[in-house]
Amino acid sequence: MENSFKDITNRMLTFIDQSPTCFHVIDNLKKELAEAGYTELHENEEWDIAPMSGNEGGRYFVTRNDSSIISFRIPRKDFKGFYMIASHSDSPSFKIKENPEMEAGGAYIKLNVEKYGGMLCAEWFDRPLSVAGRLLVKGENGKVETKLVNVNRNLLMIPALAIHMNREANDGYKYNAQNDMLPIFGDNTAKDGFFDVVAYAAGVKKEDILGHDLFLYNRVEPTVWGANNEYIASSRLDDQECVYTTFEGFLNAGDSENVALHCVFDNEEVGSGTKQGAASTFLKDTITRINMALGRTDEQYYTAVANSFMLSADNAHAIHPNHLEKADPVNRPVINGGVVIKYNANQKYTTDAVSAATFKLMCEKAEVPYQCFTNRSDMAGGSTLGNISTTQVAVNTVDIGLAQLAMHSPYESAGSKDPEYMAAVAKVFYEF
Ligand code: ZN
Repeated sequence: MENSFKDITNRMLTFIDQSPTCFHVIDNLKKELAEAGYTELHENEEWDIAPMSGNEGGRYFVTRNDSSIISFRIPRKDFKGFYMIASHSDSPSFKIKENPEMEAGGAYIKLNVEKYGGMLCAEWFDRPLSVAGRLLVKGENGKVETKLVNVNRNLLMIPALAIHMNREANDGYKYNAQNDMLPIFGDNTAKDGFFDVVAYAAGVKKEDILGHDLFLYNRVEPTVWGANNEYIASSRLDDQECVYTTFEGFLNAGDSENVALHCVFDNEEVGSGTKQGAASTFLKDTITRINMALGRTDEQYYTAVANSFMLSADNAHAIHPNHLEKADPVNRPVINGGVVIKYNANQKYTTDAVSAATFKLMCEKAEVPYQCFTNRSDMAGGSTLGNISTTQVAVNTVDIGLAQLAMHSPYESAGSKDPEYMAAVAKVFYEF
């Protein structure tokens, strides 16, 4: 990776384009970590780790379920606390069900899918889609092996119903996930062919497939747009924009008195309550094991946790040009206006005066603009990672993100200048 923030927007869009599912996010991060000299640790093996010495060692990562990852760096001297940034690897999509093929009208083979997360349904119609995820296959010696797969061609389409057959289509329509959202796979000749296509793409035999976690994804490529190229559009900006930009900040950061951790959790879009989600023990287990493996006491662990800080990084809503009334009357994030600090009195966002003040100092040091987001007082907003992970590891946390439009559409828009801001403040955070 280039150690410069100049072309970060293009690098990020390439990363997102190559990461159609949470499994690909983790795989692509692992490749960059390996290149940067990070050693993989496994949860089911003893950890033999050491602080950095010179420019060697001290750099590690560990994954869970191949869909969450924690990368970390142990400073040269004894550390004070854990400085962590958390983001999420998953985005709303449609998951392929078991035995997915269905015949329709003697003319089509379509696929049975179900919703993963809370997406905008309409935006999935009438655009080329493909399939990616992981396969569990019978490997050598009778063991089960995991294979990443991306069919990587225009394979599926969910056709809209013609206006002539639903004259009320533009007056609001309630989409039924079982009836309206099933994509066409082919004509009758495609029968029994879906797993042939997937097996071919994965380089495995169809009869060896024992399990699958396969998702639809939008084939429209990321792009830069606007009068002055001020905007970007891509699938999965929520939350891969935060994943990628904070990761560059993590890799580029210099020395610190704290353990630097970059955490990417799966399943944020479905409540984080899985073994690899932000509500799991993954983070707590990891920092406990770092403490133990370095021969430190429990007392030192608790002291370090008390000295710790977390940025919960998940994208935020920009004001919408056609719906300005949906934003708070005062706190109105704009695209390319810098990092958004999110506040909520009921603590759906973890930000409080203490964590916000610290984060603002970091922005000033990084020369990065910041802005504030609050929901309208009569509108309930979403929640995110920070308030969930603090049930396992309770530390000062601030909820941040970059401003975007069309959140949870399969093609979202954001700013072309903002990625640089997030990477810059992440770097300062890890050196703070
Ligand atoms: Zn998100």
